[in-house]
Amino acid sequence: MPKAVALYSGGLDSTLAILVMMKQGVDVTAITFLNHFGCDISDKSSCSKDPFAASVKFGFQVKLSHLSDKFLEIVKNPKYGHGKNMNPCIDCRVLMLKEAKGFMDITGADFIITGEVLGQRPMSQRKNCFPMIDKAAGVKGLVLRPLSAKFLPVTLPEEIGLINRDMLLNFTGRSRKPQMALALEYGLTEYPAPAGGCLLTEPIYSFKLKDLLTYNADPEYSDINLLRIGRHFRFSPECKIIVGRHDAENEAIKLLAGSEDYLLRAEGVGSPLVLLRGKTTDEALTVAASLCARYSDAKKLHEVDVAVLQGDKKYYMKTQPADNEMIELYRIEKKAALQPDGHAF
Ligand code: SF4
Repeated sequence: MPKAVALYSGGLDSTLAILVMMKQGVDVTAITFLNHFGCDISDKSSCSKDPFAASVKFGFQVKLSHLSDKFLEIVKNPKYGHGKNMNPCIDCRVLMLKEAKGFMDITGADFIITGEVLGQRPMSQRKNCFPMIDKAAGVKGLVLRPLSAKFLPVTLPEEIGLINRDMLLNFTGRSRKPQMALALEYGLTEYPAPAGGCLLTEPIYSFKLKDLLTYNADPEYSDINLLRIGRHFRFSPECKIIVGRHDAENEAIKLLAGSEDYLLRAEGVGSPLVLLRGKTTDEALTVAASLCARYSDAKKLHEVDVAVLQGDKKYYMKTQPADNEMIELYRIEKKAALQPDGHAF
């Protein structure tokens, strides 16, 4: 029985690619690659992807693999450049195929499959991109893209008769209608709405990440994880302030806070949790406390008591809620939103 390793996101296309191969009797093991910029698959409220749902229904294995440092490196220094925002899509595909090749060698699989559809994404799914990506990943001829295979050169598994090319497909472009029709045929009824890509394709997120990397070339993972939470303010090159927007974000900030960070909360009223990270001065603490008061239920008061915690230390500050000018001065997202073309850079 031919064996394949599948790049698997849990989305419609990558599921269909697997089902098309299974129909030809291929034993497929799927790998879902994780990074710090994708959706959190353990949090069903923030993400509709569940890589295990279809695998249970259709009977294929899914392995999870976190790309961690390797992924961060291509975000910082992509060989093939960023897309419109901070997304290094070509480097990302190369990295995932390299990792899949390693897995293929360990498990004795014959080839790799992906759910890519020709012309669906502008950066990495163009016809001339596929051979370039495969070559860069060292998997030339070994990557079968079943959904668009009829438009693509014959691959090794087709050449040696493991796969019947006549049973492969000719999908192209951005329309999902052919995929949806095929999903019906397979009885694949539940799948996530098509996603636009990872967080790195979002202008405001990308702006915050670029700000972080500008001032800290070697951020901790907690710095990166904080980017998806709260309102972000840059006080100085060495100091950031993050304000929770609701209880769940306040909890997340508490979990991500380190022993050196300051946490601030307005006392006795509904209040955000505010995190101050980096080189802390009295002025930075004053700004953080003002922001805390401004986003609390006491924002209309002239003076607000704000509790400041750092490790075992706790003390109070009296502060005035921040005005719009202060917010404009420090808020990172606001600067992104003000970019004239609507893109971060
Ligand atoms: S959108 Fe993100 S996860 Fe998808 S290929 Fe681009 S960089 Fe990789």
